[in-house]
Amino acid sequence: MRLANLSGRLVIVSGGKAIDVESRSDGAFSSDPQAVYERWDEFRAWAQGIELEGGSDFDTHDLGAPTPAPRQVFAIGLNYQDHASEVGLVASKIPVVFTKFASSIAGPHADVPHPGGDLDWEVELVVVIGKQARDVSTEDAWDYVAGLTVGQDLSERITQHEGATPQFSLGKSFPAFSPMGPWLVTPDEFADRDDIALETVVNGDTRQKGRTSDMVASVIMLVSALSKVLPLLPGDIIFTGTPSGVGLAMKPPQYLSVGDELVTRIEGIGEMRNRIVAGR
Ligand code: ZN
Repeated sequence: MRLANLSGRLVIVSGGKAIDVESRSDGAFSSDPQAVYERWDEFRAWAQGIELEGGSDFDTHDLGAPTPAPRQVFAIGLNYQDHASEVGLVASKIPVVFTKFASSIAGPHADVPHPGGDLDWEVELVVVIGKQARDVSTEDAWDYVAGLTVGQDLSERITQHEGATPQFSLGKSFPAFSPMGPWLVTPDEFADRDDIALETVVNGDTRQKGRTSDMVASVIMLVSALSKVLPLLPGDIIFTGTPSGVGLAMKPPQYLSVGDELVTRIEGIGEMRNRIVAGR
């Protein structure tokens, strides 16, 4: 199943059409895209039992982030060995965790205002939590995942590295620095949910190309490890880290400029197209 946020309303996407959840369910489920995760198992059972016909055409530019207002946003640093190596660091079995503040969340076609400094790209698989997870084992961890979506962990490298210790959370939270979409895809839709191709293309040039099977801490390891520290709440999201090919590691380093088009694709989900624009 594919679930999207169309102009602020929850829709199921099927055959290129959008089915409005509130109207199709006669109000049993809210139109609020964030609220569905509070009743995820119930919603999924309902959605599996209905005919996915009779939806409406829609413009992909009207799509917002599938999870527009999560209570907790987790992001993982250095989770691919090739990326850790390119920035001169060692990947760790203990995940490096930071947050991207929620005001940075944007849709899959959102313009990204260039904040100045060194604006860099990071394609990431984003995990959406479907029910409260506390102390879960790796064996059970997929049961707590509602679905997967495409994300960019946009990063302003000067802010990120300024200060006595790195400030990942601040440098990665300028407005529109967390575009996500175009929709959430449930894990059952993937041929292999633990081995998914992902890439970043800037102005037509491929910059990153990786596979999630190369993650140091896999989806189940991340869900399990985080849940042993704190509860993961329905609708929370996890940016799972980026493979090699970021601008910081290019020789010489290369960053995004006003007018650039950033295309982010993940196999089995789809693509985002974000334009870098002037001004704050
Ligand atoms: Zn990242």
